Amino acid sequence: MESNAAGRTWNYLSHLASSTLRSKFIFSLEQFARDLPLAKIHTLVVGRLQTNCYILQSDSTALVIDPGDEPERILRFLSDLKIKPSQIIATHTHFDHVLGVDKIRTTLKIPFLIHRDDLSMLESMQSRVREFMGLSVPPPPRVDRFLADGDSISIGQDTMRVLHTPGHSPGSISLAGRGYVITGDALFNQSIGRTDLPGGDFDTLIRSITDCLFSLPHTVS
Ligand SMILES: [Zn+2]
Repeated sequence: MESNAAGRTWNYLSHLASSTLRSKFIFSLEQFARDLPLAKIHTLVVGRLQTNCYILQSDSTALVIDPGDEPERILRFLSDLKIKPSQIIATHTHFDHVLGVDKIRTTLKIPFLIHRDDLSMLESMQSRVREFMGLSVPPPPRVDRFLADGDSISIGQDTMRVLHTPGHSPGSISLAGRGYVITGDALFNQSIGRTDLPGGDFDTLIRSITDCLFSLPHTVS
């Protein structure tokens, strides 16, 4: 019974997520037509788990979000577009979101930021990946600063708000800008994120999605 109820909840939320994201996407296209957004979002799919790395650009400033692997490719992309990022942010610290951080951080000499509640997961990255995936990965990158719920991040003339959206991991964050929200692995187009990994919690994720992400107004800035 319980698993049927969980399955129904899952299906309902997946449907809700899909239609909500679709409406946000349509809204963002309308917004483009009426009023050009200040930040451009470039997406690079990186690494063996095909993680979305986002480059948010406003004029010549930028943020690198979730550089999960292939740092040389990300650096080449930034250089080709003559973009100088000011910081690197991970929406959470699963290895497929942070493997490219160290190279970009040291090459460009820019800080790396996460939510404090994901620090212990980052620090135990090597042993966890070895235990759960049988893979060997380099030591975790150094964290320069912590982000907290409600923080604002400036990028050019645009501002993003940090939302603490735990559940996929304890320190998962989403980043809400004008007309978009980057949710990391909390929410996908057709589903919600996994909660069976260490530190994950299904009820917490559902609360983050329903109370926080779904309550964002259409103009999320
Ligand atoms: Zn993840």
